[in-house]
Amino acid sequence: MKKAERAELVRERLAELYPDPPIPLNHSNPFTLLVAVLLSAQCTDERVNQVTPKLFLLARSAKKMCEVPVEVILEIIRPCGLSPQKSKAIAGLSRILVDEHDGKVPADFEALERLPGVGHKTASVVMAQAFGVPAFPVDTHIHRLAQRWGLTSGKNVKQTEADLKKLFPESCWNDLHLQIIFYGREHCSARGCDGTKCELCRACYPNRKKPPTIKKA
Ligand code: SF4
Repeated sequence: MKKAERAELVRERLAELYPDPPIPLNHSNPFTLLVAVLLSAQCTDERVNQVTPKLFLLARSAKKMCEVPVEVILEIIRPCGLSPQKSKAIAGLSRILVDEHDGKVPADFEALERLPGVGHKTASVVMAQAFGVPAFPVDTHIHRLAQRWGLTSGKNVKQTEADLKKLFPESCWNDLHLQIIFYGREHCSARGCDGTKCELCRACYPNRKKPPTIKKA
């Protein structure tokens, strides 16, 4: 099977399984989404969703967040891990949004990636989920699955993102990102899997006998 055929198979099956994938992080506007995505680094979405109601009760906008002492932010977000760095980033980006962007989250990759604590993946999630701009945020899980399905041989998330963007139409990037995440959570958490256990791998590689080699991100 050619790579383009595997991509079409994956796209069709994931669309059947997850026709309308929800955004996993609770939020009410671009600012609260940005903060939630930042908090989700090395933390589960479930844990972030437990923590954010308390934080967003104090501040749902950059302007309000500037009034919350960084120590208070730190204490609330502690369960998410990396709380010293994350609390400083939330306070710092809120100040920049107020000073340079009229308190609003900019719908602009470069401006987002200049904010503290915001890398390309976080910016991509915000662009896709807050502003509906086609993006393909690739984390280590998507990187791994894309390799197992033979959609990339990328050595890192940047290459994998470029390969996936070439393979799939722009119109499905935002949903596909979420669909792959949901599939990975439900079916592909087993690191030691030999790549023959579930239907998508079997459909992509019916003759696979040994585990695929996975390049770490
Ligand atoms: S067969 Fe294994 S590697 Fe492939 S999607 Fe299923 S769990 Fe993941």
